[in-house]
Amino acid sequence: MPSRCIAAFCSNTREDGVSLFRFPKEPELLSKWVKQVRRTRENWKPTQTSVLCSEHFEFSLDCNTLTLQRETQN
Ligand SMILES: [Zn+2]
Repeated sequence: MPSRCIAAFCSNTREDGVSLFRFPKEPELLSKWVKQVRRTRENWKPTQTSVLCSEHFEFSLDCNTLTLQRETQN
């Protein structure tokens, strides 16, 4: 099974031409990511295999912030 993006309304895999990112181990950053996902998926919890695709990121220069874009398709 290829890894699929866990964001709501998104199921991108590497074959869709995106990069997939594992959830960070750093607690502060992790909770930031989870919070963003929960904007569209209530009570969602990350697992070891959870990934988000590059469509949801806008990295700042230090790669430390992100924006999960609103998924509007479907
Ligand atoms: Zn995605």
